[in-house]
Amino acid sequence: MPTYARAPVAFVRGAGCRLWDREGRVHLDFAAGIAVNVLGHAHPRLVRALTAQAETLWHCSNLFEVPGQEDVAGRLAALSFADVAFFGNSGAEANECAIKLARRHHAAAGRPERWRILAFEGSFHGRTLGTLAAAGNPKNLHGFGPAAPGFDHAPFGALAAAERLVGPETAAILVEPVQGDGGVRVADPAFLAGLRALCDRTGALLMMDEIQTGIGRTGRLFAHEGAGVRPDVMTLAKALGGGFPVGACLATRHAAAGMTAGSHASTFGGNPLAMAVAAEVLATVTAPGFLETVRATGDRLAAGLDALVAARPHLFEARRGMGLMQGLRCRTDPAVVVAAFRDAGLVTAPAQDRVVRLLPPLIVSDAEVDEALAIMDGVGARMRLAA
Ligand SMILES: *Cc1c(COP(=O)(O)O)cnc(C)c1O
Repeated sequence: MPTYARAPVAFVRGAGCRLWDREGRVHLDFAAGIAVNVLGHAHPRLVRALTAQAETLWHCSNLFEVPGQEDVAGRLAALSFADVAFFGNSGAEANECAIKLARRHHAAAGRPERWRILAFEGSFHGRTLGTLAAAGNPKNLHGFGPAAPGFDHAPFGALAAAERLVGPETAAILVEPVQGDGGVRVADPAFLAGLRALCDRTGALLMMDEIQTGIGRTGRLFAHEGAGVRPDVMTLAKALGGGFPVGACLATRHAAAGMTAGSHASTFGGNPLAMAVAAEVLATVTAPGFLETVRATGDRLAAGLDALVAARPHLFEARRGMGLMQGLRCRTDPAVVVAAFRDAGLVTAPAQDRVVRLLPPLIVSDAEVDEALAIMDGVGARMRLAA
């Protein structure tokens, strides 16, 4: 179906931060499949883990115990606030699980009237009917009938509005610590702390959608760590499988109290292939020094982008973001800028709010950052001549 406005390029091979298209041209990848290829392309450790699992067992169903799920859930629990995990195949499914979990949490405690979720304008939570309603973006909901009920929306960052919208029917607050699709909008730590306090006061669950920010993207394993705010529920996907489809909904035992046997399921979720790769991604990203390097490389990219904005103000308006999740706000349609970058050999991703997203693999080198900055500066110089 023609549901994608695809760029006229087909990548057929990747290694590290490079992609080769079918004409044999090499591109520098600063999109990483939208924050997915966290260790770049064809990382030897991931290739080995996936190949070894492929020779052993592909699938067996959640009718049985799956040792790989115990391994990955145990690692995620040791690395986070969470006690338990449910595995799916995508981000949208992880958020569906979180929404169901929040409603069951209250229903199981004798409060079935608490089923509404407060979410934020500019957010993105997936393309299922539930997660579309959660984000509330009218453009994405258009033509699909009435939005699923039970979601309220406050402006992102507006704590007083959130406080007004949380009522006796509110089950949970769902928030991205950095809005990705919304344009790399970083939540103020005080806003997240205010939501935490609001949840503590009202008994609502605080649910962080870290599908794009998680697994080291912002320089911390999870973005909420940087803000010093612990959620009750967190969703992951994108980078968790380094390019193999997997999603997870993590929660404290208390938050997940309603998720009893038979309450939720997935045929493919937590498949042995996905778990083998996810375990290797987690081991690599949490190795000593890895995230320190991400922070240092992120600082280098941010400084370079600040200089770019200062040097090419006719095209670039501002930089935003943290770590290796950076956005460049443009004075023109970001799709035009993304296309110009791509023609110059740099792959990036557009976002809302006139933003071009820079999401390189976390293994990106200083030299590759400098190369990307030089390409962007060259495009800035040429687009000035064209204007
Ligand atoms: C990508 C994304 C999703 C949806 O993930 P899918 O795997 O496409 O379903 C949800 N939330 C956020 C923050 C995302 O970036």
